[in-house]
Amino acid sequence: MNAAAACVLLIEDELPIRRFLRPAVEAAGWRLVEAEGGQRGILEASQCRPDVIILDLGLPDMDGIQVIQRVREWSVLPIIILSARGQEADKIAALDAGADDYVQKPFSVGELVARIRVALRHAASRAQPAPDATIVAGDLAIDLARRLVTRGGAAIHMTPIEYKLLTTLARHAGLVMTHRQLLREVWGPGHAEDSTYLRMFVRQLRHKLEANPTQPKHLLTEVGVGYRFVTE
Ligand code: CA
Repeated sequence: MNAAAACVLLIEDELPIRRFLRPAVEAAGWRLVEAEGGQRGILEASQCRPDVIILDLGLPDMDGIQVIQRVREWSVLPIIILSARGQEADKIAALDAGADDYVQKPFSVGELVARIRVALRHAASRAQPAPDATIVAGDLAIDLARRLVTRGGAAIHMTPIEYKLLTTLARHAGLVMTHRQLLREVWGPGHAEDSTYLRMFVRQLRHKLEANPTQPKHLLTEVGVGYRFVTE
C-alpha cells in the first residue's frame, strides 16, 4: 500500500456498510480506517490523522453532530456525513456544525467515492490557495483576481451580492452549502433566516449564468438543504 495514499476514516456502526465500503475505498487507492462509534472515531481522527472522515449520524454511543463539533475544535479536515431518510433536520444541523457534504442512505459506492474525491480536492486547494485562480464551469469563468465573470467569453454584469453569492458557492465547488451558511456568509449573521432572499438571488444568478435557468447545470438545488455549485 502506498504510504502517501489518502486515509479515509469511516465512523459507522453498521458492519455491512463498513464491509461494503472497504473494497471501493481501497480500489480508489485510499487507505480505510474504521471506527464503530463516535468516541473511537474521535480518537482515530486525532491519532491516525485521516484526510477525510465519512461519518454516520446515527451512532450508538453519541450523536454524529457531537462528533463533528469535537473534531472541528482542532481540525478543518473534510467530513462527509451519511444520513438516512427522515434525518433531514439532522443533516442540516450537521452541515451547519461544520460537515462539508452528505450522502443519503441508501447510496451508491460510485457516488460516495466521487464525493470523497471532491472533498480531498477541496482540502488540497484550501491548503495551497491560488489567489489568482479562475474557476471554470463549462462556458462560465469566474476570475477571482479581476472579479470578472464571463460566459462564452462575454462579461456578465453582476451586482456585489450576486458576485459574493456565486463566489461563495464556487469556492466550495462540488460541495453542498446550507441556506444558513450561505445567508451568513453573504449577508451576515443577522440574516441567517432570510431564505426567500436567497431564493430570489439564486433565481437571478441562474438567469444570468445558466443556458436554461429552469434546468440549471451549475447552480443546483439540494432540496430542503441548500445549493451546490458544480463545475462539470
Ligand atoms: Ca448507524
